[in-house]
Amino acid sequence: MPSMQETRSETMRFDDLYWEPSSEPIVENDVELEKIVAQAELPVLLAALAAALGDTSFLSSDLQPPLTLVDTQPHPHGGMSPKQQERARALALDGLRQVRDKEITSVDLLEGDAVSDLLGYLTGGREHWHASLKHELDLAPDKGGAPQWNFAEVADGRDFPVLIVGAGIAGIAAAYRYSQAGVPFTVVEDSQTLGGTWAKNTYPGVRLDTPTFGYSYSFAQRGDWPYQFAEGGDVLDYVRDVAERAGLVESIEFFTRLVRLLWDEESCTWQATTRHSGGQERVRTFAAVVSALGQLDRPNIPDFPGAELYRGVTMHSQEWSHDVDYRGKRVAVIGTGASAYQIVPALADEVSGLVLFQRSAPWMLPAPNYHDGVSDTFAWLRRKVPHYAQWYRLWVTLQGIPGRMHTVTAEDGWQGAPLSVSAKNQEVREVLIERLKEQFVDRPEQLENAIPDYPPGAKRMLRDNGVWAAALKSAHTTVVTAGIDRFSERGIIDNEGVEHEVDIVVFATGFKPSDYLDEVEVIGRDGVEIHDFWKGDARAYNGVTVPGFPNFFLIYGPNVGGVVAGSLHFMIERAVEFSLKAVHEVLQRGASAIDVKPAALDRFVEWVDAGNRRLAWGQPYVRSWYQNSHGRVSQVWPYTNVEYWEATETVKADDHEFLA
Ligand code: NAP
Repeated sequence: MPSMQETRSETMRFDDLYWEPSSEPIVENDVELEKIVAQAELPVLLAALAAALGDTSFLSSDLQPPLTLVDTQPHPHGGMSPKQQERARALALDGLRQVRDKEITSVDLLEGDAVSDLLGYLTGGREHWHASLKHELDLAPDKGGAPQWNFAEVADGRDFPVLIVGAGIAGIAAAYRYSQAGVPFTVVEDSQTLGGTWAKNTYPGVRLDTPTFGYSYSFAQRGDWPYQFAEGGDVLDYVRDVAERAGLVESIEFFTRLVRLLWDEESCTWQATTRHSGGQERVRTFAAVVSALGQLDRPNIPDFPGAELYRGVTMHSQEWSHDVDYRGKRVAVIGTGASAYQIVPALADEVSGLVLFQRSAPWMLPAPNYHDGVSDTFAWLRRKVPHYAQWYRLWVTLQGIPGRMHTVTAEDGWQGAPLSVSAKNQEVREVLIERLKEQFVDRPEQLENAIPDYPPGAKRMLRDNGVWAAALKSAHTTVVTAGIDRFSERGIIDNEGVEHEVDIVVFATGFKPSDYLDEVEVIGRDGVEIHDFWKGDARAYNGVTVPGFPNFFLIYGPNVGGVVAGSLHFMIERAVEFSLKAVHEVLQRGASAIDVKPAALDRFVEWVDAGNRRLAWGQPYVRSWYQNSHGRVSQVWPYTNVEYWEATETVKADDHEFLA
């Protein structure tokens, strides 16, 4: 067993808080290994074995997975042909035998050439992906991500305190990277606990709707996830565990809300006013501020007429009242988005009556494994093949680069609007409708209402293993599509005048994602308040910086949310790294602050707008939370991880002004 100290230095060397220096020895016989190989994801296994054996020679080009684009469901083995699979299985079996016979249980950092070979194999030769993928590869000698500089070396003795606002996924990422650079920081968190959205969203059924292995930090590659789509509690435990492993918990001031930031022109610092939950205010000075306030955390509760008359219980999905027992009660759920999709099936069999108010039907991608645990084969491979889970994570990330972008790209002159945006989009529409027809074959009268009247992908698509249709078909579920007229004392009256009497109303009505920094006053240079600058149309260069607000960095700010491609953690980490590079530039130049130029922001916004305009959600006849009140798509990133990697790689001097 390695000592604690050895483990710690290994962790630092590999920039992975979950780094496991060694795996368990393989002791299984050939017959058992053959069974494992039969169920393994072959490109992942071949890559992991090649790395373990230090031999990439068997990853020949004819074995490269074609990476067939995913229209609705991932293709096993990246679309390898049966012949390729047969050969890959033989090689994998041989590789596993070698690992067993040579008693290999660990892998060291790879040589650059080996990394190129491995990524070349997995990506089918797409070299322009490599740099962004190395960011996710523990074994790459030039993984990047972690700062390669230290505050003490660059700015010894300088007073440069940084405020990080929020201790959710983004805040923890920021705190970790800033701590690695030795930059002094304080984290303030409004609530009593860390974890952000995963601490707040505890409604019945809450879990990931993206694959678990695509939902973790590059610096904390947990391998032993129990589910393919993790439950909310598991994700929360993970974020907390990361914060603990990284030694960050002590740096967080809980119950502390940022209410005001004021830029002091003379000292080039931010005066930050925080308010403790007890009401006390405190003003402190910071050299820089990193806002890791979430995008989807300000509940949207529509202003329904008569809401004040209603005598029952109401709650928003994010503010679930666990002391209210819904069992045996009559419950209304308003909304059919990702939150409702999880709440409705979880409630359907428990309540005496469920009324679902559907304004529009959701598109759902088939995910038969949505509630499944990871397989025994996966668990075996994770324990026995060095670094298997990390290769698997890389594989999920890699396939997410193109993601399903090709299915939502609009075709010029396409005649299928407003139901589809291209031939491929129409094809997906038809595949998904066929699935709905199967699900509602015994309830044909419900089918029409279950088919969305907008293009697939124009709003966020959900993952479906049949539970939604089953809940809608349940004997005590009523789907109301007439729209809500008003609330009454006893329930909700629809637009056809029918009163639906209920004991509990759940607002699964989403959030106000475009209202960035809604509850914070941010006064920058020349006394300009950030919301006055934005005028309801939040914009930030790389989603991070705003002209006139020096040394102020937004993490997961406007226009950087991925919806059909990419990874949330990648976007968050790259924004953090970009902010840290900006801080490094300031320190190295002996400047006070960095401010992005207005022209650079304009160029960035033009670029993302052009990208979004050619996608399903950018069509003029579509409305969703991706857009702000001006109708501009202000939340979503229209490109791939690779473009964001490139955009955030350097702090371009021409795009910035440095304040003395
Ligand atoms: P949402 O996608 O914005 O859905 C809100 C729902 O409420 C929509 O069906 C909307 O109808 C309906 N609605 C809003 N105002 C209404 C009104 N006045 N009358 C009737 N219906 C109304 O919100 P969400 O479901 O909370 O999801 C938001 C995002 O959070 C997701 O897209 C996802 O990114 C994230 N999320 C992730 C997970 C996960 O990973 N597990 C889970 C939940 C949420 P229209 O569609 O007609 O507008």
